[in-house]
Formats: sequence, C-alpha cells, structure tokens
Amino acid sequence: MTERTVQGGFARQWAAVESAVLDATRRVGESGWYILGQEVASFEAELARFQGRREAVGCASGLDAIEIGLRAMGLERGARVLTTPLSAFATTLAVVRAGGVPVFVDVDESGLLDLDLAAEVLEEHEDLRFAVPVHLFGHALDRVALAALRDRFELHVLEDCAQAIGAHSHGAPVGGVGRVAAFSFYPTKNLGALGDAGALTTDDDPVAESARALRDYGQSAKYVHDSLGLNSRLDELQAAILRSALLPRLPEWTARRSEIADRYRSGLEHPEVCVVPTPASSTSVWHLFPVRVPGELRDDFTAYLRTAGIPTAVHYPGLIPDQHAMAAVEGVVVHGELATARAFAAEEVSLPIHPFLDEGEIDHVLETVAGWRA
Ligand SMILES: *Cc1c(COP(=O)(O)O)cnc(C)c1O
Repeated sequence: MTERTVQGGFARQWAAVESAVLDATRRVGESGWYILGQEVASFEAELARFQGRREAVGCASGLDAIEIGLRAMGLERGARVLTTPLSAFATTLAVVRAGGVPVFVDVDESGLLDLDLAAEVLEEHEDLRFAVPVHLFGHALDRVALAALRDRFELHVLEDCAQAIGAHSHGAPVGGVGRVAAFSFYPTKNLGALGDAGALTTDDDPVAESARALRDYGQSAKYVHDSLGLNSRLDELQAAILRSALLPRLPEWTARRSEIADRYRSGLEHPEVCVVPTPASSTSVWHLFPVRVPGELRDDFTAYLRTAGIPTAVHYPGLIPDQHAMAAVEGVVVHGELATARAFAAEEVSLPIHPFLDEGEIDHVLETVAGWRA
C-alpha cells in the first residue's frame, strides 16, 4: 500500500488553468499596455458584477485596498476604528496606515467579531464612527445585524472580505453593508492571482473616484495631485489572469470547497475535535476549515496529522493587539479580556481545504482524525 498524503492545491490549479493563463499573458504582452488599461477596467467590471456592486477598483493588495478604502471614506488621522483582534495582521495594519486607531472587540463562538459586544462598545465610545469587520474563514457575518449596527451608530463600515469572496448572508453577497468592501487575491485566497493583487468594491461613486486617485499617487488627472496617494495599481497582467482564467472558475471551486466542508462537518467525530460553528445566516465559501482542540493537545494533534502526511495551519496563533509592532501605535483600545479570541488563538487548527482535494484525501483526513489518541 502506498503512503497516503494530502497535497496542496497550487500544482493542480495550475494544470487546470495553464492554457487560459498563457492566453491572458500573451494578450497583455501583445497589447504593449501594462499598467491601468483595458484589462484592469474589464476585471473591475466583472468583479463588480460578481459581487453585485456598482464599482470595483483594483489595487496592488488586500492590505492596500483596506487602507485606500478607509481613506476614500474620509477617515481622518487619529479617528478610532472598531475591529477584530483575530484576523490577518494586515486588517489592523491597514487601519493604522490609514491613520486610524484600532479599538479591539472580542469575537463570538464562530471566531468573527461579536456584533452584540460591538454594540455595547459603540454605546460607550461616542466618537467611534468607523468599523472594519472581517468575514473570517470564508464565513459571512450576519448582514442584518451588521446593517442594524451601521444604522444605529451611523458607522462608516469597511468590510474585510479578503477571505470571503462569494460568501452570502441572508442570500446577499458580503460587501453590501459597508460603504466599501476590500478583497485580496493573494495566491492562497479563494480567488488567488499569480502574485499580489487586491480590489475594493463600492456603490458610492465619489468613494470609487477617490480610491482610483489614491491608488495612483493621488492623481485626479495626469500630473494633478489632490491627495497624497500611493502606488497601489493592479497590474494589467494579474487583472487579465484574474478575469479570464480564474474568476470564471470561482463558482465551481467554491462549490467544491462547500462539498468538502460538508463531508468534514458530517464525518468528523472525535470527542476532542470541535468543528467551529458558522454564523447562522452564512452561506460560507470555506476559505479555511477551522476546528478547535484543547490547547494543551494542539501540538500533539498537528504533529500527528503531519506524520500522516496531512498539513495543517493555525489561524491565528496570536492576537493582533499582542503583536510587538502594536507597541508603536498610540491610543489603542482593547475592550475587555478578549477571552474568546484568546481561546481561538490557543485551540484553533485549520484542516486542509481547497477545490482540488480528491475523495481519497478527504477520507484520509477523516480516518486519520478519527484515529487520534485512539
Ligand atoms: C490576506 C488578508 C488580508 C491582506 O491581503 P493581502 O493581499 O495579503 O495584502 C487582509 N485581511 C484578511 C482577513 C486577509 O486574510
């Protein structure tokens, strides 16, 4: 019998998209136009349509899309921004780079920002006017609850959708509650480019216009600089690949992730391995498949899986406010003990999930987990 392992998805994805990527590459090469041309415009139009928004603005990364989005919404230096301590560091880094001061609020049992707790914090801090919630793991935060929060506190919301492109809440795509939604096309993301890329979407035309200037040195017209922008343009090459080789396959890939998640959810039966619950209204896109094990057993669990050829990861081993870099940020507010986020940091393990896992690999994960400490 051959040794069974679980493989990553990159090589198999390449085999599936190679000819479409090469066609897109040739198209850009032959056009002789490499920055902010027809390919970026076409991808933006397709992305806006996919997410059901008026406008999309391509950027160089998800990090930049959040920063640019916040600045385009009028965030001023020193303004407080409510956000989650359990996310990629980039979420908070973008807030700080935009001039904001993070206010960290704990997560709920699904690992996403606790919206009830957020309401309590917003009651206390009257000056809080901005929020950056994250649709973590590919799960959608409850759209109705988020909109209620936005309306009650007149919040400017930027939704971090880096892990959740295509996710829905109460039947509508993520990204429609906030004035801006930000996406990352980092290679590991559900829509992963062949390099760095990102975008924001909005229904607000002045915000889109401002974002287009900010990503291009703050130019409102050639050699006219109305704001201190950055160079955060999406390349024509990545835009061409995203639009014609990757985005058309995303629905099929998402459906496959969802099938795998269903198999894990019904097949994982181990007293020490708990599947993390999804928010009730979420139609998730399963960027990750998070489970929790007792903190003192986590190293044993991941080492055991590694021995069986099953790679895992931890999202995230530490909270954002505890990172050394945050010591340099003045005025950070940490609301309470962040006990639930801390429990996630101690107990979370992400099992392998990508559209190219085959049935044998899924069986191998389920059987291996079942045999842990047996
Ligand atoms: C990946 C990620 C980002 C940053 O995106 P980049 O394209 O890597 O800059 C931001 N927020 C979340 C939740 C992410 O997962």
